[in-house]
Amino acid sequence: MGKLNLNSYKEDTVVWRGSLKVSSRPVITLTLSSDARDDAHTTVFSSPFPQHRTIRVWLKRDSGQYWPSIYHTMSSPCSAMAYHHDSRRIFVGQDNGAIMEFHISEDFNKMNFVKTYPAHQNRVSAITFCLTSEWVISTGHDKCISWMCTRSGSMLGRHYFTSWASCLQYDYETRYAFVGDYSGQITLLKLEQNTCSIITTLKGHEGSITSLWWDPVQRLLFSGASDHSIIMWDIGGRKGRTLLLQGHHDKVQAICYIQLTRQLVSCSADGGIAVWNMDISREEAPQWLESDSCQKCEQPFFWNIKQMWDTKTLGLRQHHCRKCGQAVCGKCSTKRSSYPIMGFEFQVRVCDSCFESIKDEDRTSLATFHEGKHNISHMSMDISRGLMVTCGSDRIVKIWDMTPVVGCSLATGFSSR
Ligand SMILES: [Zn+2]
Ligand SMILES: [Zn+2]
Repeated sequence: MGKLNLNSYKEDTVVWRGSLKVSSRPVITLTLSSDARDDAHTTVFSSPFPQHRTIRVWLKRDSGQYWPSIYHTMSSPCSAMAYHHDSRRIFVGQDNGAIMEFHISEDFNKMNFVKTYPAHQNRVSAITFCLTSEWVISTGHDKCISWMCTRSGSMLGRHYFTSWASCLQYDYETRYAFVGDYSGQITLLKLEQNTCSIITTLKGHEGSITSLWWDPVQRLLFSGASDHSIIMWDIGGRKGRTLLLQGHHDKVQAICYIQLTRQLVSCSADGGIAVWNMDISREEAPQWLESDSCQKCEQPFFWNIKQMWDTKTLGLRQHHCRKCGQAVCGKCSTKRSSYPIMGFEFQVRVCDSCFESIKDEDRTSLATFHEGKHNISHMSMDISRGLMVTCGSDRIVKIWDMTPVVGCSLATGFSSR
């Protein structure tokens, strides 16, 4: 951590005015939104802590300070949020399973209640609004995805999973929904008006899925999980190619792919912020091979009773080389190395022959690591301006200027308006 120069950051913080007691269950969601017509407006929507049950809209004033312009109290704790900037509609999911829709006034000083959607029977975990189809799509802890019509307010369809649905991405053009769940599985569904079909399930994580990001241009899906890792699923490539990215030492809490610069930004519960270079040809990590004996020295593993008996040797513990995937014993894999081209940004176990094959230049990092200095639970990016907002269990919202890290192509591409 901390390989990057933090001085290049301009950090601005917004401190919550509420209780200082840290919630036992911090449920916070936020969206960073910029008004394209007026660069002075930066809006941070936040639905903070369960006991507060409030939505606040923070506006950047002429003084440069952020100030809450709206402070709305909800009937049930907030758990998810979707904001549609062009129509200024905001959808707030709650612990009781309902989604409430509001309309925000043009000056961001008022919020008018529109509708309540009985979307779930338990906590809403993610929401997406599609203006063209007038659908509000959501996932919840009642183990389901539901889609409802925003004109009539009625339920259109619902699909149940075997565990809590934790995150959602939606492709507006094809009506494909990606749902991550607590079992570590991602389900790809095609939503129809009143029904849906399962296209495939993606299995690769060893912990619950905490975040998903869909890039409709390159047709890449990124998933972050509680197993500390990120997987890039090449959906468009159709060859089932997956890339593993391991650089965090705690749960990956939020991810955002910047298509223009081909960088992936990821935030972790330990405060780590990583910016991954995805503009290079990375290699897939190998499948771990199965063997009853070490694939280097041929000594039996401890469950291989027959060979242990025949050769009168003691069984050994099985390990795997991260680079070649071979099943090896401890003696044949004493070395550790990073191997960024396969996504291993920190040192992992490799067999002795793979260690010999890794040159110094192969260890050059393909990501930059930054210190967020709080336990990040949510993140949102305004890609057009290179701004990132994080909020942590410390109840602080931090706004980050990412332009020194995500490259100047962002600035030249968009921000001159
Ligand atoms: Zn061995
Ligand atoms: Zn190896």
